[in-house]
Amino acid sequence: MDSFSHPEFASHERVLFIADEQTRLRAIIAIHSTQRGPAIGGCRMWPYQSQEAALSDALRLSRGMTYKNALAGIDSGGGKSVIIGNPVIDKTQALLKAMGKAINDLGGLYIAAEDSGTSPHDMSIMAESTPFVAGLDHANGSGDPSPSTAHGVYLSICEAVHFRLGKAGVGGLRVHVQGLGKVGFALAEMLAASGAIVVGSDIKPENCRIAERELSIETTSNDSLFNQACDVFAPCAMGGVLNQQSIPNLRTSIVAGAANNQLLTQHDHVLLHEAGILYCPDYLINAGGVIEVYRRRHGDSDDAIAKSIGEIAPRLRSILEEANQRAAPPEKIARERADTILRSDRQNRSEPWAA
Ligand code: NAD
Repeated sequence: MDSFSHPEFASHERVLFIADEQTRLRAIIAIHSTQRGPAIGGCRMWPYQSQEAALSDALRLSRGMTYKNALAGIDSGGGKSVIIGNPVIDKTQALLKAMGKAINDLGGLYIAAEDSGTSPHDMSIMAESTPFVAGLDHANGSGDPSPSTAHGVYLSICEAVHFRLGKAGVGGLRVHVQGLGKVGFALAEMLAASGAIVVGSDIKPENCRIAERELSIETTSNDSLFNQACDVFAPCAMGGVLNQQSIPNLRTSIVAGAANNQLLTQHDHVLLHEAGILYCPDYLINAGGVIEVYRRRHGDSDDAIAKSIGEIAPRLRSILEEANQRAAPPEKIARERADTILRSDRQNRSEPWAA
C-alpha cells in the first residue's frame, strides 16, 4: 500500500521506521504535527501481530496527541512511537538505548515518555542516549505520569456523572474499569476511595489479584465487563474497544476512561450517541499525564501542574453543555474545538517554533 493513502495517514509530518540488527529493535516514530512545538507523546512497546498494526497504531496515536495537547493548552505538537515486541521478554537495555538514539537523531522534533509496556525506568535508560525523553525515574525526573492521568480521568468521571446522572460524586455508583495497569489501578483506587462500587478487569490475572488484595475490589480476567450493567464504563487498556460489535452490548450511561483511541473508527462515537451513552473523548480527559510531563520539563510548580490538571473537568463540562445545546456528540464538539485552536495557531504563528 502507498503510505500516503494509508487509512490512518492524516498528513503526518514524518514517519520513521527504525531497524537495528544488533539489538533487534523494530520501531516506528510518527510525528503528526510540530505546529505547536516539539511533538510529545508516549513510547509504547507491544507485541503487534503485524507491522501494519503497529503503523496504524502509531499514526492514530500521534494524531490523537496533536488534539490532546492542543485542547490541554500545551505548546507541544503530537507524536508517538511504538516498539514492536513483547515488553516482558524482548525488552533489553541495549534495545532501549538504540531507541533513545533513534529519538536523538530527530534532534528534538519528538520527545518520548512512558506508555503501555514502558516505564519511567525505561525512559531513564533511553535518556543515556538522548535528552529528548521525559518522565524519568531518577531524582530530576518527573517519574510516572500515570497517577496524574488517572486523576484527570477521575475528575472527568465525577463531572460526567454530575452532568448525566445529576449526582455529586461517584459514591454508590457502579464503575467498571477495563485494564488494571498503571492508570487503571490508580483510577480504581481513587474511585473505590470515593465510595464507588468498582469492578476491574485485566487479561493479566496477577493484576486482578493485586487489585483485589490492595483495593478490595471485585475483578475478572475476561471480557465480560462489556455486557454487564454499570453507571460508568472506564476503558483503561488498549484502543479500539468501542466499535460496531461492542457498542450494542454496552449497558452503561457513561463511557469515560484513560485508554487512547478507544473508538475503532471515526464513526463509532455516533453509535454511542445514538445508543444514548455519554462518551467523554479520550484525548480530552486523559491529558493529565502529558500535562505533568510537559510542565515539569518546563520547571512549573506542583501547584501550577495541579491547577492545569484541574482544568480538564471544567473543559469537559463546557464541551458537554455545547453538545447538549446542539444535540451533537461530545466527540464532534471536542474535535471542532481542537481544530479551531490548531487553525488559529496556523494564522498566529508566522515563525515555526524551531526556527
Ligand atoms: P499499562 O500497560 O500499565 O496497563 C494496561 C493494562 O491493560 C495492562 O495491565 C494489560 O494487561 C491490560 N489489558 C490489555 N488488554 C486488555 C483487555 N482486553 N481487557 C482487560 N485488560 C487488558 O498501560 P497504562 O499506562 O496504564 O495505560 C493504559 C491506557 O491509557 C493505554 O491506552 C495508554 O495509552 C493510555 N494512556 C496512558 C497514560 C499514562 O499516563 N500512562 C496517559 C494517557 C493515556
